[in-house]
Amino acid sequence: MRVFDLHCDALLKLWENPGRTYVNNSDFHTNMERLVRGDVKVQLYAVFVEPEIPSDLKFQVAMDQIDLFYTRVLTQKGVRHIKEWSDLTELEPNEIGAMLTLEGADAFGNDLGKLRTLYRLGVKSLGLTWNNANLCADGVGEPRNGGLTELGFEVVRLNNEYKVWTDVSHLTEPGFWDVMKVAKYPVATHSNAKTLCSHRRNLTDEQAQALFQRDGLLGVVFHPPFIKDDADSCDIDDLVKHIDHFCELGGKDHIAFGSDFDGIDRVVTRLTHSGEYQNLIEELLKRYSEEEVKGFAYKNVLNHLPI
Ligand SMILES: [Zn+2]
Repeated sequence: MRVFDLHCDALLKLWENPGRTYVNNSDFHTNMERLVRGDVKVQLYAVFVEPEIPSDLKFQVAMDQIDLFYTRVLTQKGVRHIKEWSDLTELEPNEIGAMLTLEGADAFGNDLGKLRTLYRLGVKSLGLTWNNANLCADGVGEPRNGGLTELGFEVVRLNNEYKVWTDVSHLTEPGFWDVMKVAKYPVATHSNAKTLCSHRRNLTDEQAQALFQRDGLLGVVFHPPFIKDDADSCDIDDLVKHIDHFCELGGKDHIAFGSDFDGIDRVVTRLTHSGEYQNLIEELLKRYSEEEVKGFAYKNVLNHLPI
């Protein structure tokens, strides 16, 4: 069954070590062979500039990662660039769609011209922060726990205008509610349920329900510490409990997958890389109808595009 994955960090790994091949190097959870084996039909690639990078170099690092996306991912056989949402409908049966996202507004500082450049290069989803603060908002790791700045609100409005998702996955709770005030297209690309696992990166039931009511998507994330409290490892059943929980909250038509592959250092048993995606599908098919599983895996995303 084909899969739509809302988040991976392969570009950061490529940027850290551009010499590695993306075809079949097992350093990558998401290498091409594994994407094919796991029937990953669309993969979103996050541009992520680490907090240690000095501010004046951040945009350049984002550009370098986008260059790697164009030269090392899009050049792979059978890969099609999803630059506009409508490109998704053009995907041939043997093609994989690849799309750019941005994790953290640090990359463009307060320069909205740079942000528009990122849109033009194909960024279709934008998370205002990673875990730290920037000029737009505070991330979940900031003790002051602030919401959005004026600039942050302006960026969300620009996302609306350019039909770009606003990703709440790393935001503080006040930031989340600020985004919900103005975002036309809110999503959480890689977050789980706080009721089941109290990690700061997860969403409360109120947040999840607000996303569903606003017609947003919620991608469950495959990182064990976000699945089970104090866990370095867990199994697919533990992950499925989050899907069960979000369904109970009314999210059946809004649930998606956001593996966070290549950005995580611990993995779920039997779901250790993209090539094992169908193990998750098999487990879901034991509990849900085929139509429901197709929804989680792919169709819910297609039904919630900003078009
Ligand atoms: Zn992340």
